[in-house]
Amino acid sequence: MGFERFGRLSFTSQTKTNDFIDYLEKGDLYATRCEPCGVTFFPPRADCCSCLENDLEWVKINPKGKLISFTRSYFAPTGFEEDVPYVLAVAEFNGTKVFGRVRKGFTEKDLSAGMEITVKPITYQDGQISYEFEPVA
Ligand SMILES: [Zn+2]
Repeated sequence: MGFERFGRLSFTSQTKTNDFIDYLEKGDLYATRCEPCGVTFFPPRADCCSCLENDLEWVKINPKGKLISFTRSYFAPTGFEEDVPYVLAVAEFNGTKVFGRVRKGFTEKDLSAGMEITVKPITYQDGQISYEFEPVA
């Protein structure tokens, strides 16, 4: 499976981190961690921009985290136009910051910085896959 299935519109089918899609299909979100220097990357990277090594390992992201910040978007880039408005957020999961969308149906009124949040893989009606945040009830 290629990277073309990721997100609402993917501009590439192959990357050095295609395993990310396989993990997502199995229900898990993964980052990569540089073994020599220990830096963790999300989105996953195959090459470390900190120490320039390429010895990275996959690390599973614990789906329970804390919301850091969020905003409502009324303008969308190509491929996302029909989804606006939607809420974008940054959340932290065991020290790894993840940027993404909040599940449809939640608004900024349902959110507050520091609240518990989960991240879950989703499959859109057209078969594209991604992940979304959801506040913990
Ligand atoms: Zn490194």
